[in-house]
Amino acid sequence: MGPPLVADPDAADLVTAELVLDVALSLERITQLLLKLASSMPSGGHTEPLREVAGVPLGGGSGQLGFLVSRPYEPLVVGEADQYGMWQPPQQQRVTGWGPGFSGGPDAGRRRGLQEPFRLDRSGGDVLGRRLAPLFPLPPGFVPTDPAAQPNVLVPTVWHFLSYRDDDGSLGPPGIRGACAAATRMTALANQRLAGSGFAVAVRECRADPEGYRYLLKPSRDAWLACAPASDDYFYDTCGSIIRTSVVDFPRSINIYVAGEMPPSTMWGYGFVPGAADDPFWGHIGLLWDTVSPDSQNSPDAYESGAFTLLHELLHHWGLPHTFPPEGTPANTSCEQDADASRGVRDTPTVSAPVWSQPWATAAFFSCLRTWEAPPLQGDWGASASAASARAAAAGFADDQLSRFDSCPQRPGFDQLGNYMTYSWPVCLAALGHVTPDQVALMHAMTAHVNPDMYGWGQCASTATTTAAAFAGPATA
Ligand SMILES: [Zn+2]
Repeated sequence: MGPPLVADPDAADLVTAELVLDVALSLERITQLLLKLASSMPSGGHTEPLREVAGVPLGGGSGQLGFLVSRPYEPLVVGEADQYGMWQPPQQQRVTGWGPGFSGGPDAGRRRGLQEPFRLDRSGGDVLGRRLAPLFPLPPGFVPTDPAAQPNVLVPTVWHFLSYRDDDGSLGPPGIRGACAAATRMTALANQRLAGSGFAVAVRECRADPEGYRYLLKPSRDAWLACAPASDDYFYDTCGSIIRTSVVDFPRSINIYVAGEMPPSTMWGYGFVPGAADDPFWGHIGLLWDTVSPDSQNSPDAYESGAFTLLHELLHHWGLPHTFPPEGTPANTSCEQDADASRGVRDTPTVSAPVWSQPWATAAFFSCLRTWEAPPLQGDWGASASAASARAAAAGFADDQLSRFDSCPQRPGFDQLGNYMTYSWPVCLAALGHVTPDQVALMHAMTAHVNPDMYGWGQCASTATTTAAAFAGPATA
């Protein structure tokens, strides 16, 4: 049996009570935000989408407002071409997937030139690479908090569910009508695990109706499955032509595209490290339908594997790399390199490979299962979420380092079975899931650096008193 997560049961009760209150407050805040958003954006199903209008202050201190107009079918790109290099083709892009048998693939080295090397410097020194300027000016008077202070950041998500017509005319895949409820469900679960990090996500818009959004409909089930093939191709390789023209509120919102199943696909989802802020083709998230479907991974029966996949890809988007080295690299066997130390994450141990690739992977599974079923968790998802959010800001998490799970005995520390940025069993993430203080610091520093729109507007959105200012349309004369 693993060690208890909380030594004092009374303390656990206190934590639970506080967190229930916290979650309730957060939900109210998110609801307020969504109501504001709903009044100014198209609802799913409009063949002729409504326009989205936002007021922006004109320069020179004139106090005048200009208006940005975007249509949901068209990407909104505002910026100086020479400032961002936005017209250059992608040079290199790091992309990473999540799923059994997936280890990074041949694309793992591709990286867009814009996303120059960046690392967290906890000693306060300069970061490497250029800091980007925001595309959307923040509301007048709003000054975003420095990432070192780890402010609250509420990030909107926009979901695009691809579908197909079966031979009998019915819409597939089975269950697609419940797609948006499923997305909302797993988003709430991801938020439980993000509690304490400062970051949270909300469903800004969900598109699952191909009558309203024709780009969502594939001509056949085979064509839909081909969006997530067995090869190391990604959704953007096979069905990505719709991304740049369907993306919404980029780069403030994270656009999530859902298609395909496992098999033939070998990965539950993918994200970019970090998500590009200048081109959605290199700055979106891809998920399988199985990952979102309540009949598959998005359920307690699957230990909420779907929500953990979403969480993993969100963390990639905000800049977190894996804690383990890519398969086939020297570090993969030698233990000579701490995979995420180059990004400034120094509080995860040096490991040789993901948890589920280790010779002790099966023993790790049963260890996590015992922790999950024993007190204080006893398989209770509420207790699990409470314990997880308490861990997020904790200085390390010693309970997730057991000496019998050590892929690099010659290096300090033992493997973390529940770090959200390794590949591990969902029951390990349920029982032990956590990030480390350095990982949280990197999320903030990287997002502020690469995507100041998401970081600044996310702070506006997370503050109830400025929610209206953040997302409402221009004042009417
Ligand atoms: Zn990953």
